[in-house]
Amino acid sequence: MRTLVWLQRELRTQHHSALETALATSDEVIVVYFHDPKQTLGDANSAWLARSLQQLQQDFQSRKGQLWLIEGDFSTQFKSVLLNHKIDQVYYTFQLGAPFSNWQQQALQVCQALKIPLRPFDTENWLPYNQILNGSGLPYKVFTPFYKSLMSKISLLEPFNAPVEDLQKTRSVNCPDHFQSLPKDLQDLSNQSWANKILQHWQVGEAQAWLKLDDFVASGIENYDVDRDLPAKHGTSQLSAHLHFGEIHSRAILFALAPLESPRGQIIHIWLRQLAWREFARSILWHFPTSEQAPFQSKFANFYTELNDFDEQQDKIYQAWCQGRTGIPIIDAGMKQLWETGWMHNRVRMLVASWLTKNANIDWRLGVDWFNNTLVDADPANNILGWQWVAGCGVDAAPYYRLFNPIRQSEKFDAQGDYLRHWLPPLAKYTAKQIHMPSNVPDYPKPIIDLTLSRQAHLARRQQLKASSSTEKSALDECITIV
Ligand SMILES: Cc1cc2nc3c(=O)[nH]c(=O)nc-3n(C[C@H](O)[C@H](O)[C@H](O)COP(=O)(O)OP(=O)(O)OC[C@H]3O[C@@H](n4cnc5c(N)ncnc54)[C@H](O)[C@@H]3O)c2cc1C
Repeated sequence: MRTLVWLQRELRTQHHSALETALATSDEVIVVYFHDPKQTLGDANSAWLARSLQQLQQDFQSRKGQLWLIEGDFSTQFKSVLLNHKIDQVYYTFQLGAPFSNWQQQALQVCQALKIPLRPFDTENWLPYNQILNGSGLPYKVFTPFYKSLMSKISLLEPFNAPVEDLQKTRSVNCPDHFQSLPKDLQDLSNQSWANKILQHWQVGEAQAWLKLDDFVASGIENYDVDRDLPAKHGTSQLSAHLHFGEIHSRAILFALAPLESPRGQIIHIWLRQLAWREFARSILWHFPTSEQAPFQSKFANFYTELNDFDEQQDKIYQAWCQGRTGIPIIDAGMKQLWETGWMHNRVRMLVASWLTKNANIDWRLGVDWFNNTLVDADPANNILGWQWVAGCGVDAAPYYRLFNPIRQSEKFDAQGDYLRHWLPPLAKYTAKQIHMPSNVPDYPKPIIDLTLSRQAHLARRQQLKASSSTEKSALDECITIV
């Protein structure tokens, strides 16, 4: 029996059911990653991917194994491998979002036509999506009850098998020379100076993911509750890209942190709750796949300036946002951090997303696009959930309609101005009191959008939408909150 293990976003060797089962039950195993340059999430993400694949290839080699890397149109390449290498069956791990959800459909068609069994293995989640449903058997749309239900079922989790040390079987079929090196598209990207600059901030791969977790558990998790909101601190795990690429399995993290009932478990739970947002985001995308493109609440379909209606002025504003030139220090600092490192602090992500959608009235999907291009952790489920949540058109919206005041947020969460000084050197000379407020920093560009007027305009539009929407709750006015 010759099995093809098709890797997608599980770039690791342990805690990998598809790979382990193939090794245990097949005579020969071929492990392949397919890369289609026309269907990537974005450049920063692909730069990480390139490094991660190289690392994984080395991990395979060091355990006497082999990883094939194939470039080109997915469907064509997949079919050709099945035929040219006489594959008997295909194993893969179920994945959500672009491009893999489409590719899984294409793989099914190819396999059905060739009469080759295609077997999906469990998801990259804590529990399968259909196990976390409300009393009516429907998916949760609000985080807190989802979280409670999820945590009540944690004991159902099956432990993983012991890690596989010997990958020799994956070398039983000779890998053609042209499948041994990094795809050309990823090689080119790896040579770009911007990609290299970003990757200087990161150690990529499975072993590094575990080191980072260990480091965070040893020294960061104790203060996570407070530090996670302070962008100037290194107060969060920074595991998001490792999780996105499946270099570490979220369920393996749970087991690594057990027992959760210990006194330290209370502290761990605070972080796990955040990790559970990832579970929630994936559950939403699984149950409501159209939310990847369209607002979860359909009444918002035409609320923000649509992509086609983008005029020159709006385009200028959008470009200024992308480049960190809005004139609002905390927004600009966040966008600079993103461009320099491929990552941005969660609170600042909320603020920049709020400014783009609620102050500049620009469609959240343009924000998603920029984040997809520049985040190393760009992720279909988390990115969409984050943007729709901030834009107010996603799940978990009620009972509040939040409007962020970026200056107030900056004063609260970067009280000393350290984050601003780090990312905006021209502001270094200003005191903690002056630095947040554009009017206090004369040699800094003026805000390109007035925060108060744009907030009022947004609320007026929101009221209009409410008036035209018969399903809107009448209590909306009381629920608007400016934070
Ligand atoms: C507008 C917007 C866009 C976002 N886009 C992405 C994205 O493309 N990819 C991404 O991984 N996260 C995204 N997030 C969520 C969050 O900002 C990042 O997961 C977090 O900043 C990553 O840093 P960390 O690993 O140090 O997180 P930690 O605080 O250490 O959290 C641990 C893990 O939990 C998960 N997590 C934490 N917060 C969230 C959240 N709000 N939603 C979903 N999962 C979460 C992540 O996997 C994270 O790595 C977005 C948030 C917003 C507001």
